[in-house]
Amino acid sequence: MIPIDPQRIAEKIDQAWHTAAAQYAHDIAMMNAAERREYLRKTDHWALIKNALKAAAFDKCWYCEALDQRADGAVDHFRPKGRVHECKHHPGYWWLAFDVANYRFCCTYCNSGRSRVDVESNTISKGGKQDQFPLIDESRRVSDPNIGSINNEAPVLLDPLNPLDCALLTFDLDGKAHASVDKCEAPIEYDRVERTIAIYHLNDPVLVKARKKLIWEVSEHLKNANEAHQDVLQGNARSKASRTTDLQRIHAKMSAPSPYSKAAKVAVFNKYGSSELARALLQS
Ligand SMILES: [Zn+2]
Repeated sequence: MIPIDPQRIAEKIDQAWHTAAAQYAHDIAMMNAAERREYLRKTDHWALIKNALKAAAFDKCWYCEALDQRADGAVDHFRPKGRVHECKHHPGYWWLAFDVANYRFCCTYCNSGRSRVDVESNTISKGGKQDQFPLIDESRRVSDPNIGSINNEAPVLLDPLNPLDCALLTFDLDGKAHASVDKCEAPIEYDRVERTIAIYHLNDPVLVKARKKLIWEVSEHLKNANEAHQDVLQGNARSKASRTTDLQRIHAKMSAPSPYSKAAKVAVFNKYGSSELARALLQS
C-alpha cells in the first residue's frame, strides 16, 4: 500500500459525472430505507469512473499494489454503502454512495470474499473486505448523516488515501506483510495493521510469493551494483555502466507504477546501513 494522490483522480473525472452524482445523492436522500436499498441495487454511477480510479494508481490495486491486467477490478466503497458487517442494524453509508472521496479501486482478492489454498504449506488463506468496516470505538459510528460526523469515527482499516496509514504497513524479506510499529509501543496501530492484513487478504500466498521474488531480484541487483561500485572505486571505469544499469532497474521497481513497489523499497532499506548505494537510492 502506497499513498494515492487524490489530484490524479480529480483531473480525470469530468464535471458531467459530478453533476449526475449530485443528482443521485439528492434523490437518495429523499427515499426511505427500502427505496434506498433498491436504488443502490440498480445504480452503479461509480462504475463510470472506475478507469479513472484505476489510472490514479497506475492500474494497480490501491490496497495490495497488484497489477492484474486480466481482471476488471472493482470500485470499493471504503465505508460500505448498503450495509455494515460489524453493525447489523446500520443502513450502510448510503449518503456516501456517490462521493468520490469514498471510492477505492481494488482487486477482486482485496474486495471480495475469497479463499486460496497454499499448496506448499497445505493451508487455506481467506480474506476480502466485502461490507466490513470496523471502528476502533464502535460507539462513535455514524448511521445518519444528520446525526454525527464521520470525521469522529476512527476506522480500523488502513486507508491508501492517508499517507500516515500507508507508513504503518511494511514487509519482511520473505514477502509477508506486517506492522512497522511495535506491538507494545503502539498497540492500537499494531492491531489496525493486523486486522487490515486479514481483511484485505494481504498475506494471500500468491501475493507473498510475488513480493518475495521481487525482494530477491532487487537484492541481486543491489549486490551486483555494490560489486561494480567497488570496481569503480578501485579505478575500473568500465564498471560504471553495469553499476548504473543495476541501479536503474532497482529504481524502476521502487517507483510508483511498478507492482509491489513498497516491497522493493524494503529490500533496499534492508541494506541501508551497509550500502552507500542503498542510501543513495532511498534519497533519489
Ligand atoms: Zn488487491
